[in-house]
Amino acid sequence: MVGSAVVEIVKMKKEMMRKIAFGYSTRCNIRCEHCVAADDARKNEKMKLCRAKEIIAELAAAGVRGISFTAGEPLLYLDDIAELVSLCREYEIYTRVVTNSFWAKSADLADSYTLLLKESGLSQLRLSYSRWHQKNVPRHHIVNAAESCQKAGLDYFVSFVTDFSEDDDGYEQYLREQKLLFFPEPVIFSGRAQSFERSALRTDYQENCCSMNPYLAPSLDMYACCDAGSHFTRTNFFHLGNLKDNTIEEMFRKSEGNSLYNHIRSTGITAIASFAGFRAREIVGYRKCELCEKMFNSPELLGALEKEAESGLKSWHR
Ligand code: SF4
Ligand code: SF4
Repeated sequence: MVGSAVVEIVKMKKEMMRKIAFGYSTRCNIRCEHCVAADDARKNEKMKLCRAKEIIAELAAAGVRGISFTAGEPLLYLDDIAELVSLCREYEIYTRVVTNSFWAKSADLADSYTLLLKESGLSQLRLSYSRWHQKNVPRHHIVNAAESCQKAGLDYFVSFVTDFSEDDDGYEQYLREQKLLFFPEPVIFSGRAQSFERSALRTDYQENCCSMNPYLAPSLDMYACCDAGSHFTRTNFFHLGNLKDNTIEEMFRKSEGNSLYNHIRSTGITAIASFAGFRAREIVGYRKCELCEKMFNSPELLGALEKEAESGLKSWHR
């Protein structure tokens, strides 16, 4: 087989690999003002551990190869999460835990958490950091957690959540000075951050394709994307169903077979908005997930887009 064909097959397999964000519980020990996972209307929910184990077996059978434990603060349930991670290892599923590092008060405490997670087979720890998180969690926790990961040989990343304002310069500089691995992640103007002020950003006109990894909530509702998708309550556009009535496989197929979702993945949200009649200069003014909200949480526009998506958005004129 020629090299380019092999590369293409590897690429296709990679593209087809199923991943999911797994919400074991929406409970959190802090209350960040920018939290997309919570709004004031929502109550805390948690899966039963035995049910979570069954679901992981079902996810493995459906070919899921990556699970990110997220939602509230997963490590409030350290022993449960360690058990679930260990189960994932048996199924050869890559695992990530997203945490606010509340537990890393000292180097010793940080070591006790990371060692247990490493021994359970965790692939990566993702440390959430921002000027909002750090009102509740002192920033040296991030350093303790990161250094502890390095000692334990556990892959980690700091997810630096930012609205790209100057207010964040000092927070970013701290990460650089501490020589931590980090990447900036845009704040999502949804959930509690819905009412935040948006400063003007200068960006190029980009495709804005979204990989759309599904999110399974503790209520057993599954959504076609994480982040803002579960908040589109006027249309429930991203809601795939509930595990009480559907199998994981059915919901993945629904996600992968939906024409409009596939346009979000391949054509990109920018082009869809342009087809839908949004001006180019309007499009570049929206923050992550906001353009989706504008188009897909409007019953009228969504109805029209869904119809056009079937024909490849070719005949769209407004
Ligand atoms: S952003 Fe994360 S740490 Fe902050 S309240 Fe939400 S779930 Fe908790
Ligand atoms: S950009 Fe759209 S599809 Fe992607 S996570 Fe946000 S709401 Fe979901």
